[in-house]
Amino acid sequence: MTDPADLPLERKATLLSGQDFWSTPAVEEAGLSSVVLTDGPHGVRRQADDFDRIGLLQSLPATCFPPAVAVGSSWDPDVAERVGAAVGREARALGVPVVLGPGVNIKRSPLCGRNFEYYSEDPLLTGVLGAAHVRGQQAQGVGASVKHFAANNQETQRMQVSADVDERTLREIYLPAFERIVTSARPATVMCAYNRVNGVYASQDRWLLTEVLREQWGFEGVVVSDWGAVDDRVAALAAGLDLQMPGDSGAGNGRVVEAVRAGDLDEALVDRSARRVAALADLVAEPADGFDADAHHALARELAAQCAVLLRNDGAVLPLAPGTRVAVVGEFARTPRYQGGGSSHVNATRVDDALTALRAALPALSFAPGFSLDGSGDAAALREEAVAAAGDAEVAVVFAGLAEDDESEGFDRTTLDLPAVQVELIRAVARASPRTVVVLSSGGVVSLEGWHDDVDAVLAGFLLGQAGGSALADLLTGAVSPSGRLAESIPLRLEDTPSFLTFPGEQGHVRYGEGVMVGYRHHCTVGRPVRYPFGHGLGYTTVETSGLRVAVTGDDAASVSVTVTNTGERAGRHVVQVYVATTAGPVRRPARELRAFTKVPLEPGESRTVELALDRRAFAHWDVREGGWVVAPGQYTVQVCANAAEVLAEETVTLTGDTVVPELTLGSSVAEWFEHPVVGPPLLEGFLAAMPDGAAEMHAGMLQMIGSMPMRRFAADFGAAIPPAELDRLVAVARAARAG
Ligand code: BGC
Repeated sequence: MTDPADLPLERKATLLSGQDFWSTPAVEEAGLSSVVLTDGPHGVRRQADDFDRIGLLQSLPATCFPPAVAVGSSWDPDVAERVGAAVGREARALGVPVVLGPGVNIKRSPLCGRNFEYYSEDPLLTGVLGAAHVRGQQAQGVGASVKHFAANNQETQRMQVSADVDERTLREIYLPAFERIVTSARPATVMCAYNRVNGVYASQDRWLLTEVLREQWGFEGVVVSDWGAVDDRVAALAAGLDLQMPGDSGAGNGRVVEAVRAGDLDEALVDRSARRVAALADLVAEPADGFDADAHHALARELAAQCAVLLRNDGAVLPLAPGTRVAVVGEFARTPRYQGGGSSHVNATRVDDALTALRAALPALSFAPGFSLDGSGDAAALREEAVAAAGDAEVAVVFAGLAEDDESEGFDRTTLDLPAVQVELIRAVARASPRTVVVLSSGGVVSLEGWHDDVDAVLAGFLLGQAGGSALADLLTGAVSPSGRLAESIPLRLEDTPSFLTFPGEQGHVRYGEGVMVGYRHHCTVGRPVRYPFGHGLGYTTVETSGLRVAVTGDDAASVSVTVTNTGERAGRHVVQVYVATTAGPVRRPARELRAFTKVPLEPGESRTVELALDRRAFAHWDVREGGWVVAPGQYTVQVCANAAEVLAEETVTLTGDTVVPELTLGSSVAEWFEHPVVGPPLLEGFLAAMPDGAAEMHAGMLQMIGSMPMRRFAADFGAAIPPAELDRLVAVARAARAG
């Protein structure tokens, strides 16, 4: 292969944008074939032929695996990796070398229309699952595209809005999933977001695309634009964006050439990006010989069953015993809602519905649709029919949720409520039926208020992919024990969510005013009750946690060992959740943060001891003054929790942490001067010695009063006997101590 940098400028510039919607141009003289990049993430969406259109609904059949909202709830990297691997296999069969996923944006608000494509409100859970997906997919020789980098947490005005977010919040909440995936799974590409970050389009943000992504995290792949995210082509290239998608018939590349010719853009940048894009051609392989659609459907069913979350199960109404007289209610039982709308929409190879699957296990069940999806029909009559069916049964299972039109890429929801007609139906059925189970299908969290207390059980399926219907039947009948855990909090009210006052922003800006207090971090810190906390989920068995041991393994790391025992009569999978709580350091910390987790299978009576490592990042905060991660010396409580709101066992350890010698200037406060580890003690001593008798006793109160005053003013205006030359000397002492 010729080095693309040796090509004439115009020619190599052609590599920097698509030749159409879904592929890069071939450059024969450099031995480069065209590379197809297409969606993703939970199934391949490859258009049959016409690459000149976005063609959302005309793609080749592929398996629709559980979308990220479901995989997030599995809390199981093995599930994510197997989805990634299967998508990779199908991509190989469909001639797709790069599949655009996974999406790893954080669920800042439950209203985000694209939450179904994202894993969680927590960065660790998101990062671990996203990395596993990338590993699985890339092990098949198919490149991933981690998206949307960064701070793309809403659909409203997604192509213009500026996400105004401080650096600590970016580093602790919105960037870590990308960081983990880039550093541990080495994705072939990263897709930049549409939105601006602090006023700068992500597509032309040098700090994001070059300093953070490449210089700090070591990314070596291609930065591709989200489809249509480039505003200023030359600025984008200079900032670190390599590939513009889709193509714009060469207009942008023409501007790049002009900029080089005019001396406004270094040709070396063109060479660098051309080489990176050229390297993608290595991923192009002979298409594999089809894929096993049956095996992949079975896999989609197996994985989906590990994702649904059993929220409530009063009186062990679930699983449904064989022979139970069951009334199945709700159109979603017959017409499943299993994926979200927009670019990730997969043309499924087949679709299971729960009604058919349940009938196979419980032949005597009755069915009533209860409501229509398009609002047609007589709502009261549909409800009455369902109530009558429920009245004749021992258990009513109501399939409720959001219809495709209620949520999608491209817009955000404005309410968490289920459609009123469904709420009315659930309540009416619950009144008529001795026992009621509600099964929910929705891409985003829905409110359970107004009906939760009327029913006995709630199984949240979110969107489970094409085999979701049969997977739900497996869970309802007990063929599989539920093991999902919430990857996002279910609030009591929308008003309780931390972004309520600022989402989705106004006048072109969305201010991330809640800072790091996203999701459960907020609820736990302010003591705000929720309907169900992050991490909550039940199974059909009971598990006991015992023997927590936390050992400090260095200045800034620890290891955790804990035993979990299945004390019930059924096999199940249990998620061990480890959080860290601290008030150490100079910044406000969330009450607790998820720092490690693992999912373990447990046979009845089985015990397992799991060991989890807590590395430096588990204890660190992003320190804006230091411009880096700092582990503050102090106490850290390691908590094993049932969920973010329920601690099962905890142990506090003391960490030596980092020795930070802060910078001192004449603008630093008096308190900062006196508290400085090197300069402070002699300064204080000298200061007290120079004071009249009795002043020493006054010291504490006085220091509080003058503590926030800049040293310059204190020294000049308030008669402190510290000569300017002495201050300058101390600034130099502090600088020297800091340097080394
Ligand atoms: C979406 C991306 C997607 C791309 C290509 C964009 O609108 O934001 O996630 O990969 O379209 O379909």
